[in-house]
Amino acid sequence: MAHFADLTPCDYFTPQHDGKLFAVGWLARDHAYSRGDVSRNVVTRIHRFLIDPWEPGRFMGWHDCDFCRVSSGPRQLTLDNVSVDLGNTNLFIPAGDRLLVAPSLILHYIDAHEYSPPTEFCDAVLACPEMRSMDYLKMIRRAAPPALFAGNEVVM
Ligand SMILES: [Zn+2]
Repeated sequence: MAHFADLTPCDYFTPQHDGKLFAVGWLARDHAYSRGDVSRNVVTRIHRFLIDPWEPGRFMGWHDCDFCRVSSGPRQLTLDNVSVDLGNTNLFIPAGDRLLVAPSLILHYIDAHEYSPPTEFCDAVLACPEMRSMDYLKMIRRAAPPALFAGNEVVM
């Protein structure tokens, strides 16, 4: 999977990120990452967002987990009897005037590989309105680089 250090500009979706799109949780083998506890509230909120995550377009392909030694990581994670897909979606989380983007595998990294996302991301997750709500879409519009929508079917 593509690797970006936490909170560095992410050009995975568009080269014209305008300094507004930042990566969180794009982990890869041979790159150190931050480990530690993550509050249960953050975990359940990430899980809830992954039930039907908003994305600016449909991005093909799967992200595999580099750290699972035999499998390439799970394709689903179940919490409180609700399963979400992992590996084929991304979470877009507004944080003020910028947008943080995390692969859905972030939930697996927290669960299985002790990953601890940056505080800015955790705070933004807790403050983020429900996926696809009017408040959420307004925040996305404000925070996202315009190029993120170019050439993609805008689902808003
Ligand atoms: Zn793994």
